[in-house]
Parts: sequence; C-alpha cells; structure tokens
Amino acid sequence: MDIDILELSERKARFVLSGVSVSFANALRRAILAEVPVMAIDEINIYDNTSVLFDEQLGLRMGLIPLKAETKNFNLPEECTCEGKGCPTCQVSMTLSAEGPKVVYSGDIVSSDPTVRPADATIPIVELKDKHKVVMEAIAKLGTYRKHSKWQAGIASGYKNMPVLTFRECDLCGECVNVCPRDILKIEGNKVKLTDKGAIECSLCKLCEEACDMDAVSVSYDPESFVMTFETSGGITAAQLAVEAAGSIKTRAQKMGEILDTL
Ligand code: SF4
Ligand code: SF4
Ligand SMILES: [Zn+2]
Repeated sequence: MDIDILELSERKARFVLSGVSVSFANALRRAILAEVPVMAIDEINIYDNTSVLFDEQLGLRMGLIPLKAETKNFNLPEECTCEGKGCPTCQVSMTLSAEGPKVVYSGDIVSSDPTVRPADATIPIVELKDKHKVVMEAIAKLGTYRKHSKWQAGIASGYKNMPVLTFRECDLCGECVNVCPRDILKIEGNKVKLTDKGAIECSLCKLCEEACDMDAVSVSYDPESFVMTFETSGGITAAQLAVEAAGSIKTRAQKMGEILDTL
C-alpha cells in the first residue's frame, strides 16, 4: 500500500491511496465518517431560558457544536473505569450564561477544561432580545457517529478511482481539448497531452472519448488506486483523523481474527 499526500491542512486532506482493493478504500471512507471518537455535548441542564427557542431546540444546537479536544486524554463513557457514571476522564462540564440583547455564539461557552472547547467561536446559538436570558450547564463526552451524528469526526469523505488516460496518434482536431470540463488536455508538439493539472483532476466523464471520431483517446481507471478526500468537523486534525480511522480498521480486523480463532 502506498500513500501520496496531495494536500494536508488542519481540516482537509487529499491523497492517493495505491495498491489496495475498493473494499479497503470504502472501509477507510466509512471509518473516517463513523469510527473515530470526538467530543460533543451529550447532556444539558437548562436553569433559565427566556429566549425564543424551546429548551429542546437549544439542547440540539448545543449538541451539534463541534468541540476541539485532545481525545486521547479521554475515555469513551462505556469503556471508562467509572462504568459510565461520569468522571474527569470521560466527561467535561461547560457552562453558558448570557443576557440580551445579544447573539449568543459558541465562543460564549465556558469550558471547565481549557483543552476542550468549541472548534469555532462564531457558531450562532440563539439571538436574545432585551432581558432574555439563557443559563445552562452542558456535559461533553466522547462518542462516535455510529451512535449519533453529533459525534461525526469526518465530513465529505469520498474517493474516486485514479484516472488513466491514453492518447494515440490523431489528426489533432482539438475537439477533446475543447470539450474537457476540467481543462486538463492540450495539444503540444503534434500530440494530445495532459496539462500540468494531470490525470488526477479528470472526472472520468468521457466527453473527450465521445468527441473523438478517431478513437484516439481512451479514458479508464486504475482499479487499485484511489484519490481520497475528506474534511474534519474541527474536533481533531485531518492527520489525526486519518491515522485513527486506519487504526480502527486494524483493531476491528484483529478482533475479527480473534473471534475466528475461537471457532
Ligand atoms: S484525440 Fe481525437 S478529438 Fe482529440 S485532437 Fe485527436 S482526433 Fe481530435
Ligand atoms: S474524461 Fe472528462 S475530465 Fe477526463 S479528460 Fe476526458 S473530458 Fe476531461
Ligand atoms: Zn469515567
């Protein structure tokens, strides 16, 4: 298996994964979406709420705010030594207290642990009119998307097969260059060639193939090579998410092996 990183920022990654089956690429895509734990608000005690939102709506909005955290410092509640009763290694308390007139943002949430905080400070929660108040305590816990979408670590996770384009000698009519929506073809030195963007940008639409009367261009893909892209919700970095997603596949494969050994 080979990995060629094309783009890696705090919240986005794009890479070419080669020498793997489509099932492995799909397992990695799914693990990025659903298997890596992140923090989210799971319980909420509302002491005062005279805003226009019902308590339930406020609770839902709080739950969907992505929380940035050093997740390795926390246990999943079901795996914690406290057996899910709640302790400093499986939950963090946060408070929100505000009075109008103002718009309450995620940045107004005060966390009891400075390493766990909203990933973005500008997510609007509720607009308070004059004398409206909200006072609440929220409990954040680790979880995965398998349980609820508020714990979704990765978003927009997808892949395509690596495009392969071949060109034969032709009369250089230029039709394929004109129809390509990705602008990745050019005529240079009596040949049709790829531009610097490269085959990786090809959408496999095959418009160039259809436009060619000479069957001189063919579009296919490498069945064992994939261009993968994903973003994070902000709870952990893209690099951490990729490593933990791959680790979760390994752990589950090991568990499956152990189960099969007992049969
Ligand atoms: S590959 Fe076909 S469409 Fe493209 S320039 Fe050559 S003849 Fe024209
Ligand atoms: S398949 Fe589509 S995107 Fe790819 S080179 Fe042909 S026209 Fe361009
Ligand atoms: Zn605990």
